Amino acid sequence: MSDEILVKVENVRKHFPIKQGILFKREVARVHAVDGVDLEVRRGETLGIVGESGCGKSTLARCITGLHSITDGRILFEGKDIGRAPDKAFRRDVQMIFQDPYGSLNPRRRVGSIIADPFDIHGTATGAERKKRVQELMELVGLNPEHYNRFPAEFSGGQRQRIGVARALALKPKLIVCDEPVSALDVSIQAQVINLLKDLQDELGLTYIFIAHDLSVVRYVSDRVAVMYLGKVGEAAEGEELYARPRHPYTNALLSAASVADPDRAERRERIILTGDVPSPIKPPSGCRFHTRCPKAQEICATAEPPLTVAAGDTAGHLTACHFPVELGERLAEAHAAIQQESTEPTLGVTE
Ligand code: SF4
Repeated sequence: MSDEILVKVENVRKHFPIKQGILFKREVARVHAVDGVDLEVRRGETLGIVGESGCGKSTLARCITGLHSITDGRILFEGKDIGRAPDKAFRRDVQMIFQDPYGSLNPRRRVGSIIADPFDIHGTATGAERKKRVQELMELVGLNPEHYNRFPAEFSGGQRQRIGVARALALKPKLIVCDEPVSALDVSIQAQVINLLKDLQDELGLTYIFIAHDLSVVRYVSDRVAVMYLGKVGEAAEGEELYARPRHPYTNALLSAASVADPDRAERRERIILTGDVPSPIKPPSGCRFHTRCPKAQEICATAEPPLTVAAGDTAGHLTACHFPVELGERLAEAHAAIQQESTEPTLGVTE
C-alpha cells in the first residue's frame, strides 16, 4: 500500500428529490442519503465502510463509481475531478461488485458472454482473443474455463459471485467498489470469496472500497474503516485502531453487536442496545444525527453538529464526530477483545 491518494471525496452530498403533482411535479421533500462526506482512499489499500441499512453507504459507493451523480461536493480520482459525467477512462478504471450474485447476472446469458461485457462495451477484445481473455479471468477467480458456455443457474452462489469478480477484473481496474459482496452468501462461502478478493489484491495491486453492515467482516478485509450513520461519517480510523479504541458511541454499539464465533465470549460480552428507530433521512435530526439514540447525548448534541476531527489523545488518522467521545473506562473490553482475538480469521456471519 502506498501513501498516494487514489480517491478523495470532498463534502459529497447526494439528495434524492421527492416530487408530487400530476401535470406539474414539484419537489416537496428530499431524502438526504449522503450529506457531507469527506474520505480518502490510498492506492493499494482497502477502505471498509460500515453502517446499518439506510445509512447511505451504498449510495456513497454508487456516487464514487459514477453510477449516481452527486448533488454537491467533489470526487477526485487520481487528482482529477470526475465531475457529474465521468469519462471513459474513469469507467474503465473503476468497477463494482454487487451484493446479489443471483440478481446481478442475467440468467438467459452464458457466463462467457457476461464476463466479456466490459470488452464489448469498451471494444477492447473480440473473437478468439475475447474468449481467451475471458477464460483467463475464469481461471484467475477459481472457475473452470471449460464452463464458458454454461448459464448462471448452473453455478452455486459462491461461484456466481466469482463470475461477478471476473467481470469486474476484465478491464484491469485500479479501484473496485465491493457493495456487500458476501452478505447474500452462506457463511461457509463468505470466507472463500473474501480470501479470493484478498489474494487478488495482493497479486494485482488492487484498491478496494468494501461496503458491509457487519463490523467483523470489514475488520478482516480492511486497512482503514469508516463508520456511517444517517448519511454522515461518525468515525474513521486504521482498522486496528478503530477496533481497539472506538471513540464514537455508535461505533461502540456496533462493536458490541458484531458477530463473535466463540459462544462463551458471545455469552459474556455486554451488549449496547440502541433504543428508538433510525430517524428518517427526509428530515434528519438537528445537531448530531445520532443524538436521538445516543446513550451519552447531552443538551448541546441536539443543537451543535460535532465536526469530524481528531479527539484529544487520538492519533492523527483517527477522526471522530462527537462532542463527548467514549473514554477508556466506558469501553466494552470483553466485546472488543473478542473481536480482536478472532480477527486473524474472518468471523463471518450476520450481525445479530
Ligand atoms: Fe452522542 Fe452527543 Fe457524541 Fe452525538 S455528539 S455521538 S449525541 S455524545
